[in-house]
Amino acid sequence: MSTVTSIFETQKLPVSFEIFPPKGDLTLTAARTMAAELAELAPSFISVTCSAGGSGNGSATPAIAAMISDEFDVPTVAHLTCINASSQSIADAIFDMRERGIENVLALRGDVVAGSEPSKAFSFAKDLIPVLADAGFCVGAAAYPEGHIACESDAASIEHLKMKQDAGASFLVTQLCFDNERIYRFMDAADRAGITLPITHGIMPFMSKDQISRMVFMCGASLPSAIIKLLAKYENDAEALKQAGIEYACGQLVDLAKHGVDGLHVYCMNKPEVARAAVAAVRAAGF
Ligand code: FAD
Repeated sequence: MSTVTSIFETQKLPVSFEIFPPKGDLTLTAARTMAAELAELAPSFISVTCSAGGSGNGSATPAIAAMISDEFDVPTVAHLTCINASSQSIADAIFDMRERGIENVLALRGDVVAGSEPSKAFSFAKDLIPVLADAGFCVGAAAYPEGHIACESDAASIEHLKMKQDAGASFLVTQLCFDNERIYRFMDAADRAGITLPITHGIMPFMSKDQISRMVFMCGASLPSAIIKLLAKYENDAEALKQAGIEYACGQLVDLAKHGVDGLHVYCMNKPEVARAAVAAVRAAGF
């Protein structure tokens, strides 16, 4: 299999997908069905989220990541959060991921889970990164084009990002953002701060008013007026709104590709049709 670093070195414009462990008891079986469809699109890699605190099917992340690379020959990235972790639980996770042959890990702090005990060993993602890098993984980290929602300023957010590079991260994946101009400003700021890691840009299509409101409040993404107008135009037509969301995201992806970004990462929300539309748009534009 391939490390994400080698993918950025050898592919002109890596296009990757993010999935989450499907809900329900048959998470691995459902993930296999979905992976079969996604693999047909020949993604550069697929990343698999995990839920902080081990809620949902987060504990299935390494098994799903290993299954996709073993059975479909698609490189994978397993997400790992540390907000409630101890040194021992991270050592156990490392052991498990190594046993499964996982090479790439996205090192995350995770969101604060109400009522849970914060980690004494890992305050920030930057504390987890060197542990994973020392264990031999190719380590990625999260980046925030509009600043992290809990961070006081864009400048501080960039400083914290630089700390992740200095701690040993090898690649960066950005938070969803609906405004490419913000992304380009972020790229310039990262450049000025000496951030040299490859950055792949996360784009998520909006699917409904509820979903986009959740996203905006969860991560602080700003809503361009073009999106607000689409939400108003298709207020009473859920299917047309969904299509408009996919088209908007495809437009963002093509514009990013033309801008010469390092990579494109599609938050496909476990919907192969979203991944298919994204890949078709990027390929049709000649990338
Ligand atoms: P950190 O980099 O540790 O940052 C957390 C906060 O602390 C930020 O406000 C930051 O600015 C601040 N900070 C960082 N370093 C310092 C410092 N030295 N001093 C003071 N403040 C500091 N969540 C999940 O639960 N599961 C997932 O699978 C998942 N996948 C994600 C994938 C991507 C690409 C992204 C962008 C996010 C993902 N998240 C996931 C959400 C992520 O866990 C949250 O955004 C979380 O709140 C921050 O994680 P982080 O790794 O960026 O944290």
